[in-house]
Formats: sequence, structure tokens, C-alpha cells
Amino acid sequence: MSFESLGLRTELLRAASEKGYSTPTPIQTQAIPPILEGRDLMGGAQTGTGKTAGFTLPMLQRLMESKPQKGRRVIRTLVLTPTRELAAQVTESVRTYGKYLPLRSTSVFGGVSIRPQIKKLRDGVDILVATPGRLLDHVGQNTVDLSKVEILVLDEADRMLDMGFIHDIRKVLKLVPKQKQTLLFSATFSNEIKHLAGDLLHEPELIEVAQRNTAAERVTQVVHPVDAKKKRKLLSKLIGAGNWKQVLVFARTKRNCDRLALALVKDGLDAAAIHGGKSQGARTKALAHFKSGKVRVLVATDIAARGLDISQLPHVVNYELPHVPEDYIHRIGRTGRAGHEGEAVSLVCIDEAKLLKDIERLIKIDIPKVIIENFEPDPTIKAQPITMGRQQQPRRGKGQGAKKPSQRRQSGSGKKQANGNKKKPSPSSSPYKGRSNNQGRSGNRARQQSSHA
Ligand code: AMP
Repeated sequence: MSFESLGLRTELLRAASEKGYSTPTPIQTQAIPPILEGRDLMGGAQTGTGKTAGFTLPMLQRLMESKPQKGRRVIRTLVLTPTRELAAQVTESVRTYGKYLPLRSTSVFGGVSIRPQIKKLRDGVDILVATPGRLLDHVGQNTVDLSKVEILVLDEADRMLDMGFIHDIRKVLKLVPKQKQTLLFSATFSNEIKHLAGDLLHEPELIEVAQRNTAAERVTQVVHPVDAKKKRKLLSKLIGAGNWKQVLVFARTKRNCDRLALALVKDGLDAAAIHGGKSQGARTKALAHFKSGKVRVLVATDIAARGLDISQLPHVVNYELPHVPEDYIHRIGRTGRAGHEGEAVSLVCIDEAKLLKDIERLIKIDIPKVIIENFEPDPTIKAQPITMGRQQQPRRGKGQGAKKPSQRRQSGSGKKQANGNKKKPSPSSSPYKGRSNNQGRSGNRARQQSSHA
């Protein structure tokens, strides 16, 4: 299968070929023809599958084929993304693939001044890529008109719902014409997503390139059971001994990101943190330094790392497991992209046994457990509940915004999770086999079970 045979126009073929694409990826092969036909589409695609080009190339072609209104340019395509980074990346793709077409695009997202965005919108664009919160800010200021949208794309829809954007999305849906083409992409399919798709899509073409809720292909996964307080040392050791040149590390909270990055710097590693509490400038700089190799370790929260496209990223480390098992899939999807090999390492302390069990159940894989010498977990340490921490990125409100009341109540307790609490020996300590606090087996047994993996 070639790009030519998909029926794309020469300007797009030229741009794809200049980008170095010789053959379409499976999602592109499946998505491009129905989008060109004008059909709605529901795409189940993991990160790194080439889905951005999968919808951007035919979307650009459709815009060239439909007649623009005379006079000022109007927004004819709206792409909604969960994060600023993804919005920026999609915009870059739109520009790359559309470089030989007379179409204009821009992006609007929070964390930066709204004024230049207003100016660009006023100048007129055909394609707008937006995060829902900032888009509604523009709606409130009457600086955006969505009444002429012909194509609506919801990218990483599952993530937008996870981040609490459902109300914003529904508001946006009221502002776009009923008659339009809608494309919805999601890595996972919760009932909420299916519900949204049911309301939104008209006889959609369903395509799926990887099995739902399975971990990214080509990613080797391993769990290193280790006590919480030894995680940082182990991480430094793994990076140093493995001579890892570029590693993306996930922590659960902004505060943990900052602390870990600082500690790694003290260990002599070039590290930086990226999270929603940093200015957009700082985030862009950290990412650029990471991409160029200046920064070796990038420590990120789930939200900040969402949508990062770093080609050939070889290592992802879960310094702390995510609360939401689906986030594990998104995290490890940062590596093993576009056909490259990748390794996802999880440092799992006794407190996280339940989280690990949930992840393994979701991905239907018993992730190999390998205990590293000198980092054997202390079987006398009992599991403690993991609190969200003061700086935890919430999953409600406008993406980087408000907290759920339950999370607010938990504020201030973030320190606890970093330290296992040493207590007298107990045969019931849970040893990473997915048993929560009181149901575990003994630590020695865990080690025996782990060593075969
Ligand atoms: P995405 O899933 O859209 O984030 O894309 C993941 C990566 O695959 C990006 O770095 C793209 O540039 C790359 N990519 C997309 N389509 C192709 C293709 N047909 N051939 C090779 N690489 C591609």
C-alpha cells in the first residue's frame, strides 16, 4: 500500500514524502479513505501509530475540495486536544503536511497570553487546533466563530474526558453546526467515550489498529520491586549503569517531579521537570533541551507528558505508578513509537501493589518482576495508602485547574507516599503481586516468584 493509492493529492504526497514517509501506517491506510469520503470516524489508536497524519492528510484534502466562503477566512476545521503540547504538535503536523496548500492554521491553548491568539484568529484561519478551556475563553470574548466548522476532530478523547473536559466539550458542540464531519480518536474506550461517540457520530466508520486497552507493541516492560525510599538511588543507578541517554520519568505529582529532578541533578544527572505548574516557556524549553540531548532525564506528570512526540525515545520509567491504570498505557506509549524499540521500567513499592494489579488486569499481562541486587524490598515494610499529594494534578475542571473536594481534603499528605513506614515483621506484607494492604504474601515468597521473571 502506498500513499498514492490512498487518493491523496500531489501537494500532500510531496509533503509526506519530504517528511520521510514512504508507506502509510495501518491507521493511515484505514482512516484516510473513509475520511476522504466524508464519513464520520471513530478511531481506536494508540499513541505513536501515526494517527495525526491519519486524520490531518485527508482533512486538508477535504478542505481543499470544499468551497471556502468568499471574503474573510472562516474556521472550517476544529481539532480539540487535551493538552497544550498535543495542540502544538498537531498544529505543527498540520503545517508540515499542508505546506504546499494555501490553508492557514493556528492553535489556542492556555498558559500563554491570549492576545497574540486573538490577533491570529482575527487575521483569519481555516484550521484551529485548541484545548477546550482556552477555546471557551475565546468564545466568551467573542474572538472565535465556530459556526462554519465543517470538520470536527476530537483527538485523544479519552484523555479529554479523564481531565474533566466533558462539559467544555459539550459546550463547544453546541457552537458548531450539526451538519459536519466528526472524527473521534481515543486510545481506550470507556463507556463514557462510547456514550459521547453515540451522541456525536453519525454511522461512523470504526477502525482500530491495536487491540483495545493493550499496552503498546514493541515496548518491553519490567517491574523492579523496591522500597519507596530507595527508588531515587535505583533510578540513578539504572540510568548510569545502563548508560541511558534519554529517559522520560513519570511521577504522580508536580511536587514529586520537582523534587526528583532536583535530586537527580544532585546525583550528577542532567534532569529537568515538566508539569502543569510550570510556565509554557519553561515547559517548551525543558522539552527542547530534552529533545536535543542537553537534558538527559525529563521528569513529568501524566498531563504534561501527554502528547509528547519524541522520536526514538528508548526509555520510560514509572517512578510512581499512575492512579488511573489507563495512564500506564499512555505513559509507556511514549516509547516504542513509529516502529522503534522501547523499554518501560516501573519502580514499584509495596504501597503500589494494588495499582500494579489494576494495571496488569487492564493490559492482561503479568509484567515480569526483577529485583535488583542491593535494592531488595524490605519484607517488614507494610503497605500504606497512597495519597494524592498537595500538588496532585487534578482530573477535573479545566485541565490544569480545580480539585475535586476529595482531593482537596487529602492535600498536604503528599510526603507520606515517598517513605515506606518501617514496622515490625509481618507475614502479611503485600509483595507486588497485586494484593492490597492486608492480603499479600510474604516478601520472601515474592522474591522467589520474581526471580523467574
Ligand atoms: P502520532 O501517532 O501521530 O503521534 O505519530 C507518531 C510518529 O510517527 C510521529 O513522529 C510521526 O512523524 C511518525 N509517522 C507518522 N506517519 C508515518 C509514516 N507513514 N511513516 C513513518 N513515520 C510516520
